[in-house]
Amino acid sequence: MVNTLIATGNAHKFEEIKAIMVKFADLNLNLVYLDKRYKVEIVEDRETYEENAKVKAEGYFKFLEKNPKLKTELNLDFIVSEDSGLEVECLGGAPGLFTARYAGENASDEANIEKLLNAMRHKEDCIKNRSAKFVCHACLYDVRKNNFEFFYGELNGLIAEEVSGTKGFGYDPVFIVPQFNKTAAQIAAGEKNAISHRAVAFRKIAEAIKRRN
Ligand code: IMP
Repeated sequence: MVNTLIATGNAHKFEEIKAIMVKFADLNLNLVYLDKRYKVEIVEDRETYEENAKVKAEGYFKFLEKNPKLKTELNLDFIVSEDSGLEVECLGGAPGLFTARYAGENASDEANIEKLLNAMRHKEDCIKNRSAKFVCHACLYDVRKNNFEFFYGELNGLIAEEVSGTKGFGYDPVFIVPQFNKTAAQIAAGEKNAISHRAVAFRKIAEAIKRRN
């Protein structure tokens, strides 16, 4: 068994990552995550996605150092983390690193979407150009070798003028996936997980784990 902790408290992200990684059955991965009850404090204040992803992996490792019983129980081989974001072309790449807190610290998905649509309504360039991409910078921390490796994935699309769909999370209701001509909140989880920024990055993570074992 390859014991791997997904360093996120976001149940949606964990489910997506799990669905992507279980396809690699030959890896014999045991994927775990610590839900919100564990109160792992992470300050994501770095200047790049990669550094933020690294801070998350380190934060979970430090948390386990302070909880030796849990650390022994988990007996981890890897901690995997990611920092993702939405980059909108006509807004010069915003919200970018601020994607999760675009409308303020602990902002709801609805508030973030509202701020995005408003910003785009007030920018001339956004009338014709609604191109955007989701980016995912994933970090593989090899606990036994104390070594970090980074992997990237992106998903290109368009920002809709209004929300549609109830699946997914975050900005999915306004992110049109051109392959389906639907928002990411209107397509099935399996369809999103076949092509998403997270899928691309985490397939690379799975390949890297395979090489290391
Ligand atoms: P993080 O959790 O700090 O990496 O913040 C990333 C933010 O980007 C999330 O809170 C979401 O708002 C947004 N995001 C990342 N990936 C997705 C996705 O697949 N769908 C919708 N929103 C996403």
